[in-house]
Amino acid sequence: MSLLSKNYHIITYGCQMNEHDSENIAGMLEALDYSHTPNPEEADVVVMNTCSVREHADKRFFGMLGQFKKQKKNNPDFIICVCGCMPQQPHIVEEIRKSFSWVDIVFGTQTIAEFPNLLMERIRTGKKQFSIIANNEEIPEEKESKREFKHKALVNITYGCNNFCTYCIVPYTRGREKSRSLRAVKQEIINLVKDGVKEVMLLGQNVNSFRDADGNNFAALIRSLDEVEGLERIRFMTSHPKDLSDELIACFGDCKKLCHNIHLPVQSGSDEVLRRMNRHYNRQRYMEIVEKLRATCPDLSISTDIIVGFPGETEEDFLDTLSLVREVEYDSAFTFIYSPRVGTPAAKYDDQIPEKIKHDRFDRLVEDVNRCSAKKNSEYLGRIVTVLVDGPSKNDTGAWSGRTDTFKLVNFTSEEPLTEGQMVSVRITETKTFSLDGEKVDA
Ligand code: SF4
Repeated sequence: MSLLSKNYHIITYGCQMNEHDSENIAGMLEALDYSHTPNPEEADVVVMNTCSVREHADKRFFGMLGQFKKQKKNNPDFIICVCGCMPQQPHIVEEIRKSFSWVDIVFGTQTIAEFPNLLMERIRTGKKQFSIIANNEEIPEEKESKREFKHKALVNITYGCNNFCTYCIVPYTRGREKSRSLRAVKQEIINLVKDGVKEVMLLGQNVNSFRDADGNNFAALIRSLDEVEGLERIRFMTSHPKDLSDELIACFGDCKKLCHNIHLPVQSGSDEVLRRMNRHYNRQRYMEIVEKLRATCPDLSISTDIIVGFPGETEEDFLDTLSLVREVEYDSAFTFIYSPRVGTPAAKYDDQIPEKIKHDRFDRLVEDVNRCSAKKNSEYLGRIVTVLVDGPSKNDTGAWSGRTDTFKLVNFTSEEPLTEGQMVSVRITETKTFSLDGEKVDA
């Protein structure tokens, strides 16, 4: 069916899994002849791809949903779709049904492939469409997606999570862990490379526990992808420390295309908090992994996730987290204030931390994290680094921006015009907390 001259707009909250799901949804809409519009007010179909991990994302979502009510009133044919992690929670679906009657289509993380049918049914019958499954056993087939960049791509390798960290809603919203086959992932990447992709980001809630039906583990996948001709860079996220194997660490020494960067969420530096979070490692084990990684790959950059104010976290526990940050010297960290998620064990713990203490600890943590980031970046001053060009710099007109293989953001000048996806040499002339400045030099 052709739906010429119709527009769509997608709003994405949350993680890179959601970003990639949105790329898939965009691909489905374009296959139906919808065109992207950057302006939601011009859209015939709006898709809100939601996140449940943090409380403020919930609030932003409901606020935005309220705004679309007016647009729907002015244009009854305007179609509002809600998908992602929030509709995987029954109490949210209940709330949408009860208080947001202007929503037309609701689907979950496990029923994305049904979206084109749901949309057609909504248009054909005028009836609301709901499709949510708690735990689909099937491994979703990857469809043609509309990528944000021509030269780099997100590639799902696992879906769901089996870990049940006590603060996290993801195992309830994305179901049990399923791995795609090495063969399917490799074929997708070979096709992407033919299409001009140079860098892939392998995605999963816990990529380290990848294991396909033929018994291939994550290290085997990396080694196999390292052989793909034309591919220049391999990245992955997220890694659970409990499943990070020596075999994978060895890949950082052996695989030429594997970027010298790892995101290794620690969450806390206190053994007692890690135990209550159900993380299955302690501080000593985490530090052993960091030491092995650095021994194998001395210029590895390491980023992490840290939660402050987890129930029961004492000042001493928090000081353990600060000392761990200083010991590891992270290149960067995503820092979060704990917020209870309905349906998770930690939400029921009776030793929740007062907001004021959480915010105070958060500020102290951010100060330390930023100091580490600035220090790590300062080591780049005067170095010549290889940068994969992403395009013109967002902040500085006339400059370009891209990433090193250690995932440092570099803004740089160039005397000649450049194109996205070029690999260039850049001399670093100034270092900042979150980025590096430089000038292109001849290789
Ligand atoms: S590993 Fe833990 S934090 Fe990560 S998605 Fe699974 S349950 Fe959530």
